[in-house]
Amino acid sequence: MHDKSIPFEAKIKWIKKETRDTATYALQITDKFVQKKYKFKPGQFNMLYVPAIGEAPISISSASSDHDLMHTIRIAGDVTTHISSLSTGSAIGIRGPFGNGWPLSEIKERDLMIIGGGLGIAPLRSVIREIVKTKDIKRRNVLLYGAKTPKDIIFRDEYPRYSSVFEVHLTVDKADPEEYWHGDVGLITGLLNKVSFNPINTMFFICGPEVMMQNTVKMLTLKNVPAERIFISIERNMNCGMGICGHCFFGPKFVCKNGPVFRFSEIAGFLWIKEI
Ligand SMILES: Cc1cc2nc3c(=O)[nH]c(=O)nc-3n(C[C@H](O)[C@H](O)[C@H](O)COP(=O)(O)OP(=O)(O)OC[C@H]3O[C@@H](n4cnc5c(N)ncnc54)[C@H](O)[C@@H]3O)c2cc1C
Repeated sequence: MHDKSIPFEAKIKWIKKETRDTATYALQITDKFVQKKYKFKPGQFNMLYVPAIGEAPISISSASSDHDLMHTIRIAGDVTTHISSLSTGSAIGIRGPFGNGWPLSEIKERDLMIIGGGLGIAPLRSVIREIVKTKDIKRRNVLLYGAKTPKDIIFRDEYPRYSSVFEVHLTVDKADPEEYWHGDVGLITGLLNKVSFNPINTMFFICGPEVMMQNTVKMLTLKNVPAERIFISIERNMNCGMGICGHCFFGPKFVCKNGPVFRFSEIAGFLWIKEI
């Protein structure tokens, strides 16, 4: 096992622009020993480190079966702005992987509905790609994804491929007159009224802006989905990533160590409290 408190070096292999402010970076771990030892689960994250600037938690957006380790990053502040200025061959520091990841053991006997909003699709892509790779169609797989406008859709070119294994439904808050759009228009909760599902036999993996997750969970609850079947991935400011510094407290839990994926029944009491 490598030491997760010390960053190791990775080089950028390729960069794919997703939207105006977001790109996917494929990283190659430089040290052969770390490369061999490094294993992650879908839904986990790394702390990406830029010397003299800082670190930021970023979800792993690739599947473990993918050839490359990928991160999909939106420009937000110091670290992500610096990363956006790097090019192929540049070095970056990584600590990780951290967090619990999506509970794949829970979907063995059940249908799966993945619900992503905006950049929230990044940690979900890891599960999607794993399921697509294994062609796991014994269960019903549904993917609902919503973005602000067609130009804001992340992984836009990938959904046709995922539709071999997932029933894919895309929606945008607002269609863009400059761009042809034949998907839905409206909030992701609108899709939940359109797509049928068995509330008792379906597991829900959700990630997106907090208000989107709150409204989605409310709607699922109204549709009689038990709170134990709903999992959401939460974002909080964090420093250490290892449950030591206390920056990412979420009620009585650490997002970095106990999360970022939580079963809704375990956090229902404080999901609604702003900035908890
Ligand atoms: C578990 C987890 C997974 C995550 N996964 C991803 C992911 O896959 N991809 C991704 O892109 N992000 C992800 N994030 C979010 C990411 O970690 C944050 O956006 C992080 O703060 C970025 O670091 P930064 O140094 O670039 O921004 P920071 O400097 O920390 O800035 C963060 C916030 O401050 C605001 N801010 C910064 N500078 C200014 C300024 N000059 N004026 C006004 N406002 C400012 C930004 O708008 C932003 O809201 C994740 C977070 C967590 C907790």
